[in-house]
Amino acid sequence: MKKHNFYAGPSILPAYTIENTAKGILELDNTGLSVMEISHRSKEFMDIMEQAQSLIKELLDVPQGYHVLFLGGGASMQFCMVPYNLFQKKAAYLNTGSWASKALKEAAVFGEAVEVASSRDRNFSYIPRGYELPADADYFHITTNNTIYGTEIREDLDVPMTLVADMSSDILSRPMDVSKYGIIYGGAQKNLAPSGVAVVIIREDILGKVDRSIPSMLDYRIHIEHKSMFNTPPVVPIYAALQTLRWLRDLGGVSVMERINIEKAALLYDEIDRNPMFRCTVEDEQDRSRMNICFVMTDAHQEREADFLEFASSRGMVGIKGHRSVGGFRASTYNALPRESVLALVETMKEFEKK
Ligand SMILES: *Cc1c(COP(=O)(O)O)cnc(C)c1O
Repeated sequence: MKKHNFYAGPSILPAYTIENTAKGILELDNTGLSVMEISHRSKEFMDIMEQAQSLIKELLDVPQGYHVLFLGGGASMQFCMVPYNLFQKKAAYLNTGSWASKALKEAAVFGEAVEVASSRDRNFSYIPRGYELPADADYFHITTNNTIYGTEIREDLDVPMTLVADMSSDILSRPMDVSKYGIIYGGAQKNLAPSGVAVVIIREDILGKVDRSIPSMLDYRIHIEHKSMFNTPPVVPIYAALQTLRWLRDLGGVSVMERINIEKAALLYDEIDRNPMFRCTVEDEQDRSRMNICFVMTDAHQEREADFLEFASSRGMVGIKGHRSVGGFRASTYNALPRESVLALVETMKEFEKK
């Protein structure tokens, strides 16, 4: 049976991506070679890298002065590269969940990392607002989508300093104003490609302002200078990313994708709000993620949680068990998740209610 894949990451990819990556692994464009066995300095791979970078620029309308990098080490490596390259005196962090906390912890290695606000008091079920930013911070770091807790910052914030965003789980899910950000980064395995690579979009003029010396592999300027080929890049994940980017372009780009994502999320949130057996863990509509939808059984039905998981799994759903820090359920509704899978989950919830 074809599964409805709600895993949070690694997660569902478009069939287009998987089929074309599989083809390229067998033989890349009549070269007689697999994409896994060509030199990263070959013309073929240089083309793949360039096309992937320019499609990111095209899809997100990236302005002049920015570079796109594909780096190893995942998003977690960016938790350390960001302060290494930007932290001079002080940094500001918005703490909206486990990933944000991890990013903050890495920055604290470099000095005063200020937690400007946190939603930990209510188990990260909302996005804090109305906080003050220290005027002398070198940058402000946010996590736009909190994969574990199901909250999302959907607008591009205006702040009077360099804005850095971890967009691991919502990059390419909506149009955005890249010019508001100094750095946008994300691990690929939520919305783009298999794990093994992170995308980094970076404005060049924010670099070169710290006193410390930076090891080459952690220095964005080195990676920019070498066009993301300072060392051997993760060739296969980048090839897969290129397929996803083509799929997204052919679909009509991120504004069409956003419309689809809004519809899919609304279908599921509406059912959670309607169905007396379930309750969303994020109260405020404006904070609800379109990518990771977290819900639990209502108090009267607490003991049915395992039953629902079993029922859903018997109907082909995988990956809907919630993260242990929230409990209950989490349905990840990334770009590649078809609307039919959301409808199937909604139907499952309705039938479970009847049972
Ligand atoms: C998954 C995730 C990460 C961690 O990514 P890795 O590639 O495993 O390092 C960081 N931030 C967010 C928001 C995530 O969803």
